[in-house]
Amino acid sequence: GDGGVPGRVRVAVRLRPQNAEELVADADFADCVELQPELKRLKLRKNNWDSDTYEFDEVFTEFASQKRVYEVVAKPVVESVLGGYNGTVMAYGQTGTGKTFTLGKLGEEDMSDRGIMVRSMEDILANISLETDTVCVSYLQLYMETIQDLLDPLNDNISIVEDPKTGDVSLPGASLIEIKDQQSFMELLRVGEDHRVAANTKLNTESSRSHAILMIHVKRSVTEKEDVNPSDNENSSHFVKPFKPLVRKSKLVLVDLAGSERVHKSGSEGHMLEEAKSINLSLSALGKCINALAENSAHVPLRDSKLTRVLRDSFGGTARTSLIVTIGPSPRHRGETTSTILFGQRAM
Ligand code: ADP
Ligand code: MG
Repeated sequence: GDGGVPGRVRVAVRLRPQNAEELVADADFADCVELQPELKRLKLRKNNWDSDTYEFDEVFTEFASQKRVYEVVAKPVVESVLGGYNGTVMAYGQTGTGKTFTLGKLGEEDMSDRGIMVRSMEDILANISLETDTVCVSYLQLYMETIQDLLDPLNDNISIVEDPKTGDVSLPGASLIEIKDQQSFMELLRVGEDHRVAANTKLNTESSRSHAILMIHVKRSVTEKEDVNPSDNENSSHFVKPFKPLVRKSKLVLVDLAGSERVHKSGSEGHMLEEAKSINLSLSALGKCINALAENSAHVPLRDSKLTRVLRDSFGGTARTSLIVTIGPSPRHRGETTSTILFGQRAM
């Protein structure tokens, strides 16, 4: 891949630390991956004497802090959103590898654990003026190709509408809550998570089977002077035309994707099969779009699933897009880890 191609998805890989169960169960086995962060490389062990090497835009070891992951992966996207462009940060990986930790962790017990959602809003609020600018948030769950409102569980009337002229995507019907301070945003995330748990209990599913989508809409009023060359006249200030007020809209979309292992569970039947198919549809549609951008293809098939339709105006083009693929160290999940890495490689 070529890092210089505009619109290409930037991909980081993050390894979760070994957990207590793995510490015991995997004690006699070598980890299945070896990271070389300074070379931005990952080696995937095939057997005792052979491994494959992959390159990423960034490689985070189990010691990488939440702050560093935010600064490297998300902050450039947040800055471009503050500058008026759309952007997306997504986490992809097997359930239990750290997608929610990376994106959604509130860090209430330990501030240093704050994830990308919390840090993004802190940065946005610190860089705008609440007198002239506004920040509004929607929080959605996409399950079986239906969109659920995590801020209003009784609301089941959300559609995806694309402006034929501008290509802007909107979700009429979705709750849009104005955020004035960080505390109310934290409360919104807690409410959303409670509703996600409740909705999934009702449907008898786990959150690993749905995508959680947080959308942060930023509206800034910028005043631009009409072009007047000051050297034209000594007393140029008299000739400056009136300020032209402009409203600049942009959005940041943060997506905690469904567990990627669902894609391969094709042995299921009935409802489970339908569920696997729909997760498969959206994740493979996403993979195709990432691939099309990497190949600089004229056609990025963003209309092929609800997930990619929601992301349509925040993906490629002038938008900045980052993908974090999360993996665990256990050799027992070598197959899943391999397919996660290969998904990430489609963007390179
Ligand atoms: P996922 O959302 O991919 O299913 P989680 O984010 O829920 O995975 O992570 C699974 C468990 O691993 C959680 O207990 C989480 O706190 C822990 N964990 C994940 N990544 C890290 C990390 N980088 N450092 C410390 N703990 C982590
Ligand atoms: Mg999760």
